[in-house]
Amino acid sequence: MKFQKVITFDDVLLQPQYSEIESRSTISTGTTIRDLSFGIPVISSPMDTITERQMIYALDKLGGLGIVHRYNTIPEQAKIVHSAHADGAQNIGAAIGVSGDYLERSKAVVMAGANVLCVDIAHGHHALMKNALKCLRSLFDESVYIVAGNVATLEGFNDLADWGADAIRVGIGGGSICSTRIQTGHGVPTLQSVIDCAKSDRNATLIADGGIKTSGDIAKAIAAGADFVMLGSMLSGADETPGDVLTVPEIVGGKQVYSNYKTYRGMASVEAQIDWRGHTASVEGVTSTVPCKGPVHIIVESIMNGLKSGMSYSGAASITSFQSKSRFIEQTSSGKIESSTHINLL
Ligand code: IMP
Repeated sequence: MKFQKVITFDDVLLQPQYSEIESRSTISTGTTIRDLSFGIPVISSPMDTITERQMIYALDKLGGLGIVHRYNTIPEQAKIVHSAHADGAQNIGAAIGVSGDYLERSKAVVMAGANVLCVDIAHGHHALMKNALKCLRSLFDESVYIVAGNVATLEGFNDLADWGADAIRVGIGGGSICSTRIQTGHGVPTLQSVIDCAKSDRNATLIADGGIKTSGDIAKAIAAGADFVMLGSMLSGADETPGDVLTVPEIVGGKQVYSNYKTYRGMASVEAQIDWRGHTASVEGVTSTVPCKGPVHIIVESIMNGLKSGMSYSGAASITSFQSKSRFIEQTSSGKIESSTHINLL
């Protein structure tokens, strides 16, 4: 049996190159889904601890896209979309499934103001996805943009594009709260999937999804061919995420302090499954608590500073130029140690 060697974010670095970029302000991070333009390549995950009304609004204002999750009733989801539309958000994503009430749900959210539908299933390279995309394409005109996923291979990417997806979520098993690889033995390291899917000759937008931990990972995903990144954990704990703040007493430096946390959970975790369908089937996610991180615009600003600096190191003033110029090198295990801050290790 032959095995393909595959890589993920920490296995590689981008080689610095001659640059004429004098200021990060001259760098464009503009990107598109078909003819819909965005100022920043950031989409929030359709998860119940990440995206509802406030995240949609905040990301829209920053030039990205929020996609409200589908783990709610149709009226609840439509109300979230409607409120974000009143708030004045221009681009609003709403997740749907591929069976049951998904067509009714899709009509309700589009009627409420969503212009991006996200066909959101764990294994997107599937006959049910083919059928759903066909039905959605015949139901809606070109003013509705369709994101679909997730897939991990070029074959999956091409099929979803041919079935009618405008944008495709790429990454299976890499999410920070994901246990799919442990539970099922399946998955592909996310950066490898991005590299593979970026070879596609189809016009579909590529969204790197799962396992993105830092702005350096975002730079690598985009350099490898992603048009957007989808973020869960990096946005978790933001003020605009749904869910209560848990205040916990902690001892820091011998003194008692109070720290604030929020829940971040996989949509296939026990807790999420119990909440939305009352029982568990295959558990492929976990629940965690994360520190509160403040307003999402501060998080995104930091991400964009890192990405723009990264583009400058490659001498690239746009995403297209970043993708054509970037040079990846593989790092050794000693290189990985050197790549993280290591002052405390010495
Ligand atoms: P993160 O940015 O690494 O936290 O990954 C977020 C991504 O994980 C989401 O956009 C989904 O694609 C994926 N995801 C969400 N919930 C689950 C789950 O329960 N199991 C597996 N993957 C999940």
